[in-house]
Formats: sequence, C-alpha cells, structure tokens
Amino acid sequence: MKYPQSAYLHIPFCHRRCFYCDFTVVPLGDKAHGENAPGSSSVNSYLKLLHKEIALAPKGIPLSTIYIGGGTPSILSSNQIFRLLDLMRDHFGLQDGAEITLEVDPASFDDGSLKGFLDAGVNRLSLGGQSFDDHVLTDLGRRHTAKDLNKACTLISESFKKGKIFSWSLDLIQNLPRQDLHSWKKQIKQAISFSPPHLSIYDLSIEKGTVFAWRQSRGELSLPNHEEAADISKMTSKMLRKEGFSRYEISNYALPGHPSRHNRVYWSGSNWWGFGQGATSCLGGKRFSRPRTREKYRRWIELLELKGFNKFFGLIDQSELITFDDLIIVGLRRREGINLKKLLKDLGWNDIQIDKDLINLKNRLKYQIEIGLIKERDYRFYLTDPDGMDLSNQIIVEILIWWESLHDSSFS
Ligand code: SF4
Repeated sequence: MKYPQSAYLHIPFCHRRCFYCDFTVVPLGDKAHGENAPGSSSVNSYLKLLHKEIALAPKGIPLSTIYIGGGTPSILSSNQIFRLLDLMRDHFGLQDGAEITLEVDPASFDDGSLKGFLDAGVNRLSLGGQSFDDHVLTDLGRRHTAKDLNKACTLISESFKKGKIFSWSLDLIQNLPRQDLHSWKKQIKQAISFSPPHLSIYDLSIEKGTVFAWRQSRGELSLPNHEEAADISKMTSKMLRKEGFSRYEISNYALPGHPSRHNRVYWSGSNWWGFGQGATSCLGGKRFSRPRTREKYRRWIELLELKGFNKFFGLIDQSELITFDDLIIVGLRRREGINLKKLLKDLGWNDIQIDKDLINLKNRLKYQIEIGLIKERDYRFYLTDPDGMDLSNQIIVEILIWWESLHDSSFS
C-alpha cells in the first residue's frame, strides 16, 4: 500500500448543535472547555481511544499535512492538542514545512489558548466565523457573537502578520435567510478587512432532521430565490477576484500560495489517514468510515487491536471503492477541472475508444460549452468562474449520465 502523506483527526465535540448542522457531534454544553471543565471526562475517554487508534496504524511515511477538524477542536486544551500532535510526530514523523491546521470556533479560544495551540505545532487556523451579523448568528444557532468573531479575526490576523502562522482561513455561509446583495456585500467587506489569505464560502444547505429543515417545512425560512442566490454567488466571486483571490475550488478562495494543501489531497483522489469517531480514511484507493457512535467506535478499536492493522483492513468488505462518479464530482469542483482522457487511460481504456467516447461527451456538452459554462482543452474539462461553478450540479449530472450510458462506474 502506498502510505498517505496526510492525516485527518476528528474531534466530535461541540458546545451545542447549530440549527443547520447534521454532523455527528456530541454537544457538551456552553461551559465545556479545557481538561477539568464539564464534559472533560467524555473528552478524555475519547482522546484515549483516538490515541490508541493512531498508535495501531503502521508507521507509514512522514506527513506533509495534518488537519484537526470537527466538531469544535478548539474545545480541547492546548495541552490536549500538544499531546495529539506529539503522538503524530512520534509515530509518523513530519516533513519539513508540514501544514498543520486546527479548526477553531470564535468563542472557544483566547490569546492564551491560541499561543498554546501554536506552541503545540499548529501553523494554520481555520476559523468558523459564518457571519459578522448578530441576528444571523442567532438565527443559525451559533454560540459566538459578531464581537467574538471580530476579536478572533484580529487575534489570528495579528499572528499571521507576525509570521507565527503561515496561513489562516475564514469560513462564511452565503444564501442565508433574509440575506440580500446589500447585506452580503457588507459581510464580504468585513471579512476582507482582516486580510485572511483564504476564505471558504459555503452555500447554506438544508439538511434533514435539522432545526432549519423543520422551520422550512413550516414555511418559516425565507431563503434567497434562485436568481438572488446566483447574484450573491457572482458578487462573491467578483469581489474576491478584485482582491487577488483565486477561486481554486467551488467554495474556496485563496491568495497566491495559500490554498489548503490538505483539502487538495481529498480533491485529487490521493490517500489519507483518517482517525477518530466517524472519520473517513482513504487507503489504497479504498475509503472507509469509522463508526459514528462512541460505543461502536470503542468496539471497532478493540477489534483493530485484536486483529492488527493489515488483517483488520483486509477484512473490511464494506470499503467503498472510489468511483469514477466521485472523481468527476470532486475533480470538477477544482479550478483545474478534470482530465478525462488521463482518467480513462488509467482505467486501461485504449486511445481509439477514449477519443470516440470523449467526442460524444463534447457533443453532449455542446450547449454548455457554447454559453461558456464549461471549457475543454485536450480533454481536460473545467468549469468557468462564476457561471459554470454556480451551475456545477447541472453540468456534473450531464457528465454522470454520459458515464453511466457507457459503463459500470466502479474502479476494479
Ligand atoms: S460548531 Fe460546526 S460542527 Fe458543531 S454543531 Fe455547529 S456547525 Fe456543527
């Protein structure tokens, strides 16, 4: 097996569940923080399992990226983050200049804990801001306020300017209830005022079982309509391009030198280690997700310990193969798009067949190419920004239908 150079560590704890979130999270309450606060016994027993899982993995090769995500990883103390990263350093080793990202929530860290995280080895921060508007934050069920977010942005951007971290990212959500072009413009301007070198801007999506889905079913959510959403998205892209950002993935914008190296691993179809309850890894081209509940995760670790890593992973027959569909969906989200000729060649297809099928695809996409949603160069297909990226679903569906009309979509 080609060992991964990237690792994802999952911390499933949050203070409370936000109204739009359907992730598997363990809400610990507003006071949870640090090693002796409420919820600490749950955190400590989880960390023991997580440490054990990491220690049971093969030593592999030194890592070039580590991403600690969640949940709300900044609920952990800086000592807990230090011990986790220490184990990763000991077990796998780190390449020079490795990117080590920690997701942080504006209300769960301060100057002291930030210093502790950086001392632990974190060198990139991803701040879950979502909005600078207190009404919106309340609507979203977020725990932090606009003041918390402004303070967190100031702290992080100062660290960045002083060279204490090499990059940072701010997450915002667009197309929220009652959002219009004017209010969203103010949000983007506010974000830019802190000079983040990376911005992740997600569209709100309404997930089953969330408070938002319930509100929507009662007609209580007034979301921007299709045209308003497209205008909001176009304005985002235009404003950020003017500031020098490149939209290197549908939801991600970066200044030169600041795209997330870790995320590129997911999008390029490479392998990665995944550790923790509910975390997904991709080893030998096979994706596998760990159990989502604590008890099942604990039993999973016991089995892993009993069988040993190679035998255990050899036995997992539910492993999901990365499918051609996945590669298309993920690949087309990136600015560089996807080289379908190369992909089909990797599948062992001959040149004559590839040319024939790709000419068919180009004919199928003739209209979208003509109106400038997608471009093609030497069978590399890529979406235009903003028009193609904003209508990505419709183009991806066309390509998937083309693929399904040809063959079974699994690598084998
Ligand atoms: S902080 Fe993030 S992971 Fe936690 S509940 Fe809110 S959206 Fe979900």
